[in-house]
Amino acid sequence: MAKLPIVAIVGRPNVGKSTLFNRLVGKKLALVDDRPGVTRDRREGDAHLLGLDFRVIDTAGYEDEDPDTLPGRMRRQTEAAVGEADVALFLVDARAGVMPLDEEIARWLRSSDTPIVLAANKAEGRAAEQGILEALALGFGDPVQLSAEHGEGVGDLFEALLPFIDREEDEEEEEVDLENPYAPLKLAIVGRPNAGKSTLINRFLGQDRLITGPEAGITRDSIAIDWEWRDRDGEIRQVRLIDTAGMRKKAKVQDKLEKLSVADALRAVDFAEVVVLLLDATLGLESQDLRIADRVLEEGRALLIALNKWDVAENPSSLFNGVKKALEDGLSQVKGVPLLAVSAATGKGLDTLIEAAFETRAAWSKRVPTGELNRWFERAVDANPPPAPGGKRIKLRYVTQIKSRPPSFVIFGTRVDQLPASYERYLVNSMRRELGFGAVPVRLTLRAPK
Ligand code: GDP
Ligand code: GDP
Repeated sequence: MAKLPIVAIVGRPNVGKSTLFNRLVGKKLALVDDRPGVTRDRREGDAHLLGLDFRVIDTAGYEDEDPDTLPGRMRRQTEAAVGEADVALFLVDARAGVMPLDEEIARWLRSSDTPIVLAANKAEGRAAEQGILEALALGFGDPVQLSAEHGEGVGDLFEALLPFIDREEDEEEEEVDLENPYAPLKLAIVGRPNAGKSTLINRFLGQDRLITGPEAGITRDSIAIDWEWRDRDGEIRQVRLIDTAGMRKKAKVQDKLEKLSVADALRAVDFAEVVVLLLDATLGLESQDLRIADRVLEEGRALLIALNKWDVAENPSSLFNGVKKALEDGLSQVKGVPLLAVSAATGKGLDTLIEAAFETRAAWSKRVPTGELNRWFERAVDANPPPAPGGKRIKLRYVTQIKSRPPSFVIFGTRVDQLPASYERYLVNSMRRELGFGAVPVRLTLRAPK
């Protein structure tokens, strides 16, 4: 296994380093020891947060020494820890405010090569406001506001640390599995009642396992069904179908039906990697379909849209183009969601649909190699530099992919809060086009460094 990335917590005594350490590591490994003179040079532990593993070093433990000067031993210990860390988490006490010792630590942290994330701890409540402002003046950017004791702000902290601890090597093992095209595809089929979901699923399964009929609402339970699909090369691929029986429930009131459908669709979406929204070609696209599609994308799932009952469609080409156009206009977040014509009754287009689902999952699971990502970033920013509101240019410095499924990125820069939404869209669309994400939802967060 690759070496875990290391986070070193530094700061003067009593700012809450041990408390934070305990919270991150989850066990009381770093017992707060009140006995004077007990050397607690450092403690280490493994933290697991939101899917990432890293090692935490706590450099606490010099309460017995004069708090107004920087003791040599503390400095040596801290320097050693910071030297081997991927990122130093510099903790100050927002209640006490910035003290001379904090400033001294800040000075020598600035001269180290390790990236620094500044956090103002004990930030709960109003008593912390002044201290947060003072922390800002340390020159490490906006401090992450944290309450180690109450567990507040740990998510923000994690996000700030993420670019420094999310090493690709460390995920290799897992990524191989995630990107494995032969892993069972988790597929949900959603759509309004009568769109043909049961018929489609029966078709896939090659047997009448679900009962279909002209009446909406025959199946009662939601089920997952594993089946096998033979691809073009004759290879067997595993598919796990997540069926949303609830969507077929009969409802007298149209309004009620709409609510029911969306809620049920989302339940299935939770479990799926790829979602197929099935439309009835004889009815076309309605606002409810767009709502479901929107939510699927919001949930970060890959989406395909299939126009069913193609066998009985009138004016197929104008119908297809009409739905395509309505999708482009109606789905603002993602352009170019694949639209396929199928017939659950005759089987037409179904192999293409499953094939497209596997392809979409591959894009959704993809990790862009760092070099390729950096080259894209340079090209995109060169071709269309960010604007300069008030004559001051917004600087975008670097990009990092924090995860896949769905692909999620952070771009660091200065004054990013002033970046117009249209520019963010430009970046996301460019990424989709040039990095091969197609129409899968891509998430982008902008952050000021440190
Ligand atoms: P260290 O010397 O930097 O390791 O600091 P400790 O973790 O031992 O914490 C010092 C004191 O601050 C303890 O009394 C903690 O209970 C308290 N403390 C830690 N985090 C917080 C916090 O978020 N809010 C408040 N109000 N107190 C905290
Ligand atoms: P569900 O409510 O979405 O599960 O829809 P069903 O699978 O129960 O289908 C509703 C009706 O549409 C049934 O009468 C099906 O026979 C019919 N149907 C489903 N798929 C097709 C198709 O591809 N072509 C035609 N002509 N009818 C279909």
